[in-house]
Amino acid sequence: MFKKVFLLIILILLIWFLNSPQSLKTKDEIKPIVSPLVDRASVFIDNLDIPFIDINKPCGRPIIYTIDNFDTKFKITPEEFEKALKQAEDLWENSINKNLFEYHKNDGDLKINLIYDYRQEATDKLTSINSSLKDDQTKYNAVKSEYNTIKSKYTIAINSYNIKLKSYNQKSLNYQKQVNYWNSHGGAPKKEYDVLQSQKLILDKQAAQLQLDQKKVNTLADSVNTLANELNRLASELNLKVQNYNTIGEQRGETFKEGLYTKDETGQKIDIYEFSDYQKLVRVLAHELGHSLGIDHLPDPDSIMYEQNQSNNLELSKSDIDALNLVCQI
Ligand SMILES: [Zn+2]
Repeated sequence: MFKKVFLLIILILLIWFLNSPQSLKTKDEIKPIVSPLVDRASVFIDNLDIPFIDINKPCGRPIIYTIDNFDTKFKITPEEFEKALKQAEDLWENSINKNLFEYHKNDGDLKINLIYDYRQEATDKLTSINSSLKDDQTKYNAVKSEYNTIKSKYTIAINSYNIKLKSYNQKSLNYQKQVNYWNSHGGAPKKEYDVLQSQKLILDKQAAQLQLDQKKVNTLADSVNTLANELNRLASELNLKVQNYNTIGEQRGETFKEGLYTKDETGQKIDIYEFSDYQKLVRVLAHELGHSLGIDHLPDPDSIMYEQNQSNNLELSKSDIDALNLVCQI
């Protein structure tokens, strides 16, 4: 209020001064009287807080942006999305220490939209298959390790059984030969008969043990077969899932747009279609904000302004900063 009154007084004084007979004074004579008034007025403008910025100069005033459409199908809260936007904004601003962007809640020249379609749907599907693949792989590895343990137990058991069987068969054959011999000679004398009897007892004992061993081997063989079937089933499930994963990946395509900056007569907007994690979201937002500053794609794959979002770093590359300095004419 005071400032307005002050300005009015200056104006009246000026008019009075110019209309007074003194107005016939020469230019040089007037100068010392007018100059202090002009200086005072300039301080006054400073106090009004009007920045001395040439708005026509690139990067001269911040781009005001707002969140327009926010599709809740994305697994992100509006607060997290705002945080990602602020982070993307800071990437550019901090590198040249300039206020390039400003977020306004309801009104902005640059509208930011989060649009859920087949792109994010495919990414969500891939993420879910991927985590289920990891579970299946863990399960497969556990069964495979059990299979290996049982299989080696089985191999040891069957080898030992075969050795014992071979030895038993040999002994049994010898025994049978001696029995046949004595039978064809009218029976064995008492001494030989006793030896043969004790041999028979040992052979019977070994035969009984062999039967027990055989049962063990068969049980192990059953386990090996069951685990092998389970392994095959898991492997084909894994293959199917990998196939499914690859098909979805192919359908999605690798070069589709995660985000898009457009400017036309209706205004300017950034549409975000897909991001696989928070880091990638910050990068795609920073990339599109870069376009809104007038920066084009850069050939450096580490750059935010590279045409593909393939790096994970959250810093501007040297070529990003060079491009920013160029568009801002710094
Ligand atoms: Zn681009």
